[in-house]
Amino acid sequence: MLKQMIALTALMVSSIAFAQDREYVIVVHGGAGAMAGLEEDPVKSAQYYAALDSALMIGDKVLSAGGEGPEAVMAVINYFEGNPLFNAGIGATCTAEGTFELDASIMEGKDLSAGAVAGLKHVKHPINAAYAVKTKSPHVMLSGAGAEEFAKEQGLEMVEDNMYFATPKTMEWIEKLKQESKKNGTVGCVVLDKQGNLTAGTSTGGMFKKRWGRIGDSPVIGAGTYADNNSCAVSCTGHGEYFIRHAVAFDVCARYKYLKESVEKAADYIIHTELNTNAGNGGLIAVDKLGNIAMPYNSGGMFRGFLYKEKGSPEIKKGCGIGKKIVVVGEK
Ligand code: ASP
Repeated sequence: MLKQMIALTALMVSSIAFAQDREYVIVVHGGAGAMAGLEEDPVKSAQYYAALDSALMIGDKVLSAGGEGPEAVMAVINYFEGNPLFNAGIGATCTAEGTFELDASIMEGKDLSAGAVAGLKHVKHPINAAYAVKTKSPHVMLSGAGAEEFAKEQGLEMVEDNMYFATPKTMEWIEKLKQESKKNGTVGCVVLDKQGNLTAGTSTGGMFKKRWGRIGDSPVIGAGTYADNNSCAVSCTGHGEYFIRHAVAFDVCARYKYLKESVEKAADYIIHTELNTNAGNGGLIAVDKLGNIAMPYNSGGMFRGFLYKEKGSPEIKKGCGIGKKIVVVGEK
């Protein structure tokens, strides 16, 4: 239950761009898109704020206890994949055939190790399969039937019926597939842990009515997900074809590393200049090696949230947003 929602000042929003000495940081997204009127709808927006806040608190629990980035990213994305509000796991958007094909990826900045899966139909938590590819296989990306066989061998939870991922809402779309409708809500999480390591993860059902085994940016390392301890951890959401063409996640890290831009400047440039609302609708979340955060989007909105703790302070600072406003959800 939400007991309190406080709109923060612009000062607080800009202050997240200049980290002093951050013990740990977590940033999440739940997808970018049009989202007309959602921020103004008190009932619907409260559901999203609460879900984003729950995700942040799940990450906080892991990181505050000294847990490492991948554990936090997996815990957060497992939560999102189980929440029908988002386009990942249960609640994923459907293909033109009215089925579900899920993609996910995870990357660690300390050694550039990465794992990705594409076109999964029966793995309950695609992010766990991506992590298994990273840690238990010599490969970076597995797709389709082979990826599922691997996941099964690894003992991951499988669902027999692909319709497990359906919700009453997606069932409506499947019934009227001719009708244009979309679902935003790819999920992502980037973390700077207490050990100083960066991790990024992303999970999605992809784009509505996708065809022919289409794979978007989310499982593509360098496009939808990237992490490098020398620069940043990045997770993207939006029109995947453009994010692949512009290698968006890697480009943020490259601008930071080679041009010495701040994470905020690098991320803003890519989202607002390199991409634009007509060609490359979407956004990203990023945290750099010092704990600075960026969360730009060029779409109508982006579900997003951040949480961090300064060294030597017992308090955590956090906020969530859908459109321009950032709110804090908390107990009285
Ligand atoms: N980027 C995802 C894809 O293209 C979709 C999204 O983020 O909404 O598959």
